[in-house]
Amino acid sequence: MNVRLLALGDVPPRLAETVLAELPRPYVGGEIGRLAVSLERCYDRTRAQVDAACLIEQVPQPEPGWLLLGLTGVDLFMPALTYVFGISHLGGRRGIVSWFRLHPDGKGPDAASVLVRRITTEVVHESGHAMGLVHCVVPDCAMHRSLWPEGVDLKRPDYCPACLATLNASL
Ligand SMILES: [Zn+2]
Ligand SMILES: [Zn+2]
Repeated sequence: MNVRLLALGDVPPRLAETVLAELPRPYVGGEIGRLAVSLERCYDRTRAQVDAACLIEQVPQPEPGWLLLGLTGVDLFMPALTYVFGISHLGGRRGIVSWFRLHPDGKGPDAASVLVRRITTEVVHESGHAMGLVHCVVPDCAMHRSLWPEGVDLKRPDYCPACLATLNASL
């Protein structure tokens, strides 16, 4: 499965390349692109956040053999939740990840590497949903549900054997 990481607005230099290089099996190869989206159309003035379900509709349908994953720095929400790290169409091979809520406390090189690892893990998570995977009870599996940024650190940017088997069976 090829992955195209799409920058929705400004993305820090080399972030998309780093994340793409870290993606686990069965993702092979891939490319970086840009996608012009209207954040205005999905912006909720009362919440001062962007509606994730609205924004993902602006990600195009992927061609066969490709998964499209948007990267954004805007604060995403879904109606019942204060914020979300991302959203995807289950089995629809498209999703979005936001790093807005993933920033660790503090600065410095450690903070930068924690942030990149969190983004990569959530990209693996949303890609899993986009490939049809549901949440997983294994604590360090990328498909485990995390509601807090620190919870993302307990996971690996990879799938447990059961999730990987399910994913491979769907290819
Ligand atoms: Zn999830
Ligand atoms: Zn799993």
